[in-house]
Amino acid sequence: MQDLLQSLGNELEAQRADTRARAKRLSRSYKCRCGAQLFFRNTKCLTCDAQLGYLPDDGRLVALQPGPRPGTWLAPGRSDVLKFCANRNSPAACNWMMYAANPAEHCIACRLNRTIPSLDDADNARYWSAIEIAKRRLVSQLLALGLPVRSKVQEDPEQGLMFDFLRSPPGGPQVMTGHANGLITLNVEEADDAKREKMRHAMREPYRTLLGHFRHEVGHYYWDRLIWNTKWLEPFRQLFGDERASYAEALKRNYEQGPPADWARSYISSYATMHPWEDWAESWAHYMHVVDSLATAMGFGLDAEDIEADIVPFGRDALYAPDDPNASRFLELLNGWTEIMVVCNELARSMGQPDFYPFVMSKPAVAKLQFVQMVVFQSRAEARL
Ligand SMILES: [Zn+2]
Ligand SMILES: [Zn+2]
Ligand SMILES: [Zn+2]
Repeated sequence: MQDLLQSLGNELEAQRADTRARAKRLSRSYKCRCGAQLFFRNTKCLTCDAQLGYLPDDGRLVALQPGPRPGTWLAPGRSDVLKFCANRNSPAACNWMMYAANPAEHCIACRLNRTIPSLDDADNARYWSAIEIAKRRLVSQLLALGLPVRSKVQEDPEQGLMFDFLRSPPGGPQVMTGHANGLITLNVEEADDAKREKMRHAMREPYRTLLGHFRHEVGHYYWDRLIWNTKWLEPFRQLFGDERASYAEALKRNYEQGPPADWARSYISSYATMHPWEDWAESWAHYMHVVDSLATAMGFGLDAEDIEADIVPFGRDALYAPDDPNASRFLELLNGWTEIMVVCNELARSMGQPDFYPFVMSKPAVAKLQFVQMVVFQSRAEARL
């Protein structure tokens, strides 16, 4: 009995250490060796001129030292010889590192690209730059969460992920942003602020960003990988609805009638009402928003405990699985995040900006977020076996 308690204790401690390590990997606060604050997209320290590189397997942005051979680099705390991603000196300005011995030219994030727009066009170069910044943020988070990320272009044609960044031809058919069988297609004009904002108004959306598109579309990809044909499929149908309902009809109904008037009581966004798949993709995207913004806040020392915002915290009655071993941690995460969002929204208003997080979470939406977290955790636990 004593041994059992001891091993349970060890297991819990290991889980906590794992959570702390993961929170650190998810955080976006980095320091140069000179002490200067660094940001995720930086390639050079503005204070000491050091070359910077992002280590995707560590989730760290670090100052580099020249390596043993020209074009190679060393990172603090690591013995591997590294090299730059070939997209470093391109409009993508990729700052990710890879093993020097890797025969591939591009990093794990850039290897996911199947098609990029023609860079002869100045607008395309500008769009692509913004797209890659958002995509690296997406991919770094997927890796930090322990989710499978492999290129469908080169490494895993069956189950991998890849991107086509396309521009609609003048007068030709519009490129539709979406996901199909591991391919995420993005209309590159989503990177044009004026055009995206116009679209946001036309669609009456409170929020439309490149990162939001990526998180939503990759949610469809992970549905195929983690829900379809797994033990999660039936629980998914009970919570989100039956995805075998006709998508074409759902689209038509949404177009003709709009979302149900009381959608906010059960869904995270009006778009989520369209079909169980969209509800899942929206819930997935919001889970990614919550985890990223909370880890970033914590990385900069912003703690919900120090915030004096009165919120009504969500309790176990809001959960999908109140008895799950991670249920109380999930509630802490969500309630802490809610407090921080109250402040962020007020800060945005102080600057005359739109709300930082323009959504209100209902209990059923929270249950769906917990479901997403359980699927993510399960995938990670299986990857470790
Ligand atoms: Zn520096
Ligand atoms: Zn790269
Ligand atoms: Zn979708």
